[in-house]
Amino acid sequence: LPVVAIVGRPNVGKSTLVNRFLGRRAAVVQDTPGVTRDRIAYEALWNGKRFTVVDTGGWDPKASGLGASITRQAEYAMKTADVIVFVVDSQVGATDTDLAAARILRRSDRPVVLVANKVDDERSEAGAAELWSLGLGEPQPVSALHGRASGDLLDLVLDALPEAPREQEEEEGPRRVALVGRPNVGKSSLLNRLARDERSVVDSVAGTTVDPVDSIVTLGGEEWRFVDTAGLRRKVNTASGMEYYASLRTEAAIQAAEVAVVLLAADEVVSEQDQRVITQVIEAGRALVIAFNKWDVLDEDRRLQLEREVERDLARVRWASRVNVSAKTGRGVDKLAQHLRQALDSWETRVPTAELNTYVRALVQETPPPARGGRAPKIKYVTQADVRPPRFVVFSTGFLEAGYRRFLERKLRERFGFHGTPIEISVRVRE
Ligand code: GDP
Repeated sequence: LPVVAIVGRPNVGKSTLVNRFLGRRAAVVQDTPGVTRDRIAYEALWNGKRFTVVDTGGWDPKASGLGASITRQAEYAMKTADVIVFVVDSQVGATDTDLAAARILRRSDRPVVLVANKVDDERSEAGAAELWSLGLGEPQPVSALHGRASGDLLDLVLDALPEAPREQEEEEGPRRVALVGRPNVGKSSLLNRLARDERSVVDSVAGTTVDPVDSIVTLGGEEWRFVDTAGLRRKVNTASGMEYYASLRTEAAIQAAEVAVVLLAADEVVSEQDQRVITQVIEAGRALVIAFNKWDVLDEDRRLQLEREVERDLARVRWASRVNVSAKTGRGVDKLAQHLRQALDSWETRVPTAELNTYVRALVQETPPPARGGRAPKIKYVTQADVRPPRFVVFSTGFLEAGYRRFLERKLRERFGFHGTPIEISVRVRE
């Protein structure tokens, strides 16, 4: 999905603006369980356009200096967004921090919409005009508080969105993999293992086409581009207060990748932080491989216990590709490639419409959607609207409840596989 990133200092009104995007006139179309308060990406639908809103502003300014924070926000936005919304407080005017961010954003090859927020009266209107000086074009006066002009702003932002999501698939070269997971699960160790292995090579200097933040690894006779691994190779410290940055990094890596390997520690229970990373991958619509690391330290008891934990804690991603590895001994590492391939294949699967409808027609005949308020909705037609990941649109005479949509998903998976990829089912109601 196209991504709209919101950048700005604390208290300029970013969250209010995000809420406007998701508010009355926007509908959150996906609500994934297990998502916590600090999630930063929201999927939204407005005027028939689907897009992701990313609020880059959840950080604690005390943790690490305001200037650095906003610079990171801006860089992150430029890397991941299709449109950047830069919010400035027109009552305060452009601060040094705003200027620093603007300097970076001026280099952006993505459209930047400059928002002068808090234009609640005439005095601040003059303040808004002064923001021309940021060199980012016409400041859009908005009062998030009063709702002033925010509809126009939404139109403007959505007009700037590309018709289709950014086409990364046209790119040549190795498939892009994000190696993600909470601190200490062994990401650096695994990357080093992949690099050290005889059959693989990490090339970050020689290749002129290789962005130095990525690593090219040969695995299973094929080259893979592990994205955003600079931090893993150098092992930057993840001191306290850095957790938000770690999560931004994770998000950036996922956005840049086609498939994500979420690394978990097999000797520990699946934590909330692990779940959050998995959710990030699903919400980004990337193929997913779950790798259990540190397999070397497991005894038989722990192995059985782990099976039960997986059954309980990872039920929602039963479809994910799973592999057990040890970065320390190298066990299972050579299997990674086949899991990556399978997940990517599923991610790109397109089911022919005729086949899809034949199957769903029979399915619906056997198990029709339940009636609500006396009338049972009738499913007319199903089409696969998209791949990477597969998205299905069901045309129905009435709303299909979540339970039935889950049933459809389960059945589609049973029939067509989709092992290793999230799939999405949306419903269009037509009489
Ligand atoms: P990162 O924060 O995810 O990059 O994790 P690191 O790669 O720094 O690993 C964290 C700790 O786990 C280090 O002490 C590693 O030596 C250890 N570790 C990583 N992989 C394995 C493994 O497969 N087996 C064992 N026993 N320890 C591991």
